Amino acid sequence: MDVLQAEWGKQVSPDEVERTLSEHTYKAVTITHADTSTGVAADLDALVPIIKKHGALVILDGVCATAAMEEDMSKEYGSPNNKIDVILTGSQKAIGVPPGLAIVAFNQTALNAREEMEHIPAYYCDIKNWIPIMHDPSKYFATPPVNLIYAYDEGMKLVMEEGLEKRYARHSAFGKGVRGALREYGMTPLAEEDVAASTLSCILYPDSVNDAEFRSVLGKKE
Ligand SMILES: *Cc1c(COP(=O)(O)O)cnc(C)c1O
Repeated sequence: MDVLQAEWGKQVSPDEVERTLSEHTYKAVTITHADTSTGVAADLDALVPIIKKHGALVILDGVCATAAMEEDMSKEYGSPNNKIDVILTGSQKAIGVPPGLAIVAFNQTALNAREEMEHIPAYYCDIKNWIPIMHDPSKYFATPPVNLIYAYDEGMKLVMEEGLEKRYARHSAFGKGVRGALREYGMTPLAEEDVAASTLSCILYPDSVNDAEFRSVLGKKE
């Protein structure tokens, strides 16, 4: 496994991805959509076609982006075969549901890739074990977290009622607003504005602010 990193606040350069994929063969490339440490959004429009050109699967870590930044598995990035193959996300961020559910989506290309593999020792991570349960939930061998599944259903109803396009635009506007307001207080968003994620803004304090003190003030209840 190789990891490509960017300077903090910048995107991983598509040229570097292209170069790396030309030098070695990779079965899959994972992309973090909204980077937790820096608040930078990945450039899917640039990266997906490059990865697919080299025949690798595109696996997207959507955790804090899914349902608030565009992630569309039916979208063709330049050509009909250039699609996101797998999305992994959690219930607890932009879907607004308590933590506890891991949500995964595979397309047929990704399922075919699984079929070509042998036994996977990590039982819960094997999509093959989940497919029969998705077709018939009563086949699940244990007690499912029904409360979370009801909450997820409700969370997704709210997402779909608002409408994805509206929701993306709202998060984008709020993100810009939050970063603008923080700049007024002398804070510096780590991500360059044109690559900033809508859902997560990471900031640098001005020199005069002590981190521990600042957070203890923020955490104080009235
Ligand atoms: C929050 C986050 C995670 C971690 O999720 P937890 O369920 O809190 O461990 C992973 N990836 C991204 C991109 C995230 O934003």
